[in-house]
Amino acid sequence: MFYPKEEFGSTYQIPFDEFYKKGYRAVVFDIDNTLVPHGAPADARSIRLCEYLRTVGFQICLLSNNSAKRVAPFAEAVRSQYISRAGKPFKKGYQEAADLLQVPTAKILFVGDQILTDIIGANRVGYYSILVGPIGEKETFFIMLKRFMERITVAMYRRSSHYKGTRPDRKGYHNNIPEQYR
Ligand SMILES: [Mg+2]
Repeated sequence: MFYPKEEFGSTYQIPFDEFYKKGYRAVVFDIDNTLVPHGAPADARSIRLCEYLRTVGFQICLLSNNSAKRVAPFAEAVRSQYISRAGKPFKKGYQEAADLLQVPTAKILFVGDQILTDIIGANRVGYYSILVGPIGEKETFFIMLKRFMERITVAMYRRSSHYKGTRPDRKGYHNNIPEQYR
């Protein structure tokens, strides 16, 4: 329940077209540290990614524990549905997203940077959970503490037989981003 189904160094390295071929029809994203740095507005890359996903045929929803004040303008910029104050890792927000999208949870990809909120909740409702390397964040003491707990869980996951993904080298995070998003 703690482990993601798969891991990538960055959101922008996920082969979404392959997931579409496997039958997934919607992508639910965490925003902060997953699509952009914490608190940052939608950038060209995130807008391009969402456009690309629609071209492939995916529906999109943003699922954030942040307020509507943060989430609504972001959603408007990337032209996505959203749920703010989602209460991750509790199931309610994830279920609301699936209802909004009208896609069964088994056909939804979830992309987030935190096991202890994003991934646990996604697993509980049956999404296909993808852990990504966090996009640059200020290392405040509180965040370091939270990340420490995260790292223990991630390290356990990487050593487990469940491991799947492209194990990111910490320095390699967010390198090798496909040209289309740059
Ligand atoms: Mg996040």
